[in-house]
Amino acid sequence: MTATLTAVADLLPDLQTLRRDLHAHPELAFAEHRTSILVADTMRDLGLEVATGIGGTGVVATLRHGGGMGSIGLRADMDALPIVETSGLTYASKHRGVHHGCGHDGHTAALIGAARHLVRTCNFDGTVHFIFQPAEEGQGGAAAMIRDGLFERFPCDEVYALHNWPALPLGSAQTRAGPIMAAADRFEIEIHGRGGHAAFPQLTPDAILAASHLVLQLNTIVARDIDPNESAVLSVTKIEGGHAHNVLPTKVVVVGTVRSFNPQVQDRIEARLREVVAGVASSTGTRMTIDYLRYYPATINSRDEAAVALAAAKIAGLHAMEAPAPAFTSEDFAFMLQARPGAYLWLGQGRADPGADGERPLHHPSYDFNDAALPYAIAWFAALVERQLPASTR
Ligand SMILES: [Zn+2]
Ligand SMILES: [Zn+2]
Repeated sequence: MTATLTAVADLLPDLQTLRRDLHAHPELAFAEHRTSILVADTMRDLGLEVATGIGGTGVVATLRHGGGMGSIGLRADMDALPIVETSGLTYASKHRGVHHGCGHDGHTAALIGAARHLVRTCNFDGTVHFIFQPAEEGQGGAAAMIRDGLFERFPCDEVYALHNWPALPLGSAQTRAGPIMAAADRFEIEIHGRGGHAAFPQLTPDAILAASHLVLQLNTIVARDIDPNESAVLSVTKIEGGHAHNVLPTKVVVVGTVRSFNPQVQDRIEARLREVVAGVASSTGTRMTIDYLRYYPATINSRDEAAVALAAAKIAGLHAMEAPAPAFTSEDFAFMLQARPGAYLWLGQGRADPGADGERPLHHPSYDFNDAALPYAIAWFAALVERQLPASTR
């Protein structure tokens, strides 16, 4: 057990209570009002400078020690998901249809814990900004904070964040230089026929048949147009159209997502998607419109800071390893990594005894952050600060 893990032990009962309170009171993207107030009050009680309302419900708390000019940003996300929780836990969501199914309650509690630990140890020299962001789940809260002047108001030489990772055992951590999480794009294609009687197909372009051709063609893009040494995913996830057995519909909507790591691959997929849509529209006589949105870029760790993140994980007593490959999920910490050097870490969350159901994945209706991961998260945040902003030896 490292010195930090031992030193944070007395903080844990209160942090577990706080984490479970957050779990019971989850809030959706940009509506984290209670959470934001709780975070701001807790950080003020610690004597930190606190700024609220950054990018909506975002909070930044600042801790300075010594005269050092260096600065570091540590980020946690605060939002929950629109899921009906089925865990049956005593501290399950009191807000029906909202659930901390991604463990952001644990991230928030861990960053508060890191502040509590660093305030009383102060074994560093410089400035730490604790960044609590809204709306990670698809709404771009990190980008909203940056647009609101995050890094001008709170300059950070480097930024770090973690995500609880159920696929890794408790006490372990992984990251890697370069891409760690995918870019996420969303497409919505509207296919317009004229509509009409199903018995007179010669009188209207068939939007249903066009959608069928389109789905098959879209599924060839990654397989046939992308270098097999690259990786990407295109998934069609929704088809909507038609309402009666004897009516050809006027409109069918096809929705899906594209995930990629390399911006050139992302460009190529979007370009091919547009060509395929134009081709199928032409061959079926339908009219198609495309709404293509690149909502999160790939999360790309800078090389030096990825090494720092792994070194800090080892100092924190974690079994730290280079991640063998990035994940195809996405993460809006990507925007912060576009603005500043830094790294994103997967923190092992797996339970020794996951029970009869096995380990539940992120976004599962019964997902629950493992409180046993809290001391490791705190120790990692503290190790980053103490390593990157070393206390002067005067
Ligand atoms: Zn999530
Ligand atoms: Zn998440």
